[in-house]
Amino acid sequence: MTLVADLRHYVDERGQLASMPGPALRVAAFLCAIVSWTSRAAGARERTNVWCRRPRRQPCRGEIVAAYGDQSADIVWECPVCGGNGLIHDWQGSRWDRRGEGGAPQLQSNGRSA
Ligand SMILES: [Zn+2]
Repeated sequence: MTLVADLRHYVDERGQLASMPGPALRVAAFLCAIVSWTSRAAGARERTNVWCRRPRRQPCRGEIVAAYGDQSADIVWECPVCGGNGLIHDWQGSRWDRRGEGGAPQLQSNGRSA
């Protein structure tokens, strides 16, 4: 099952993560970390340093691989361990949009478990 997410749904009017229940917040942080990494890498398909964390699932030890989609700048991600995958759209212009910055990302959250 593919998790399709519109990043705008997780952001408030100030561009910050919206207030939401813990589980949703963890998913939001996970998605934002993927966006941050992938946009900085200009959509190159590579490992993101973000650990797999899907809704309603046990965390797994997979490291998310992400890239821009073939037809658009939607971000397509996949866990090579459990096969979990998703698509993130409308992330452009968010504070996690790091296109053009290059280099190693400085992530708000790297998605690792506390
Ligand atoms: Zn996984």
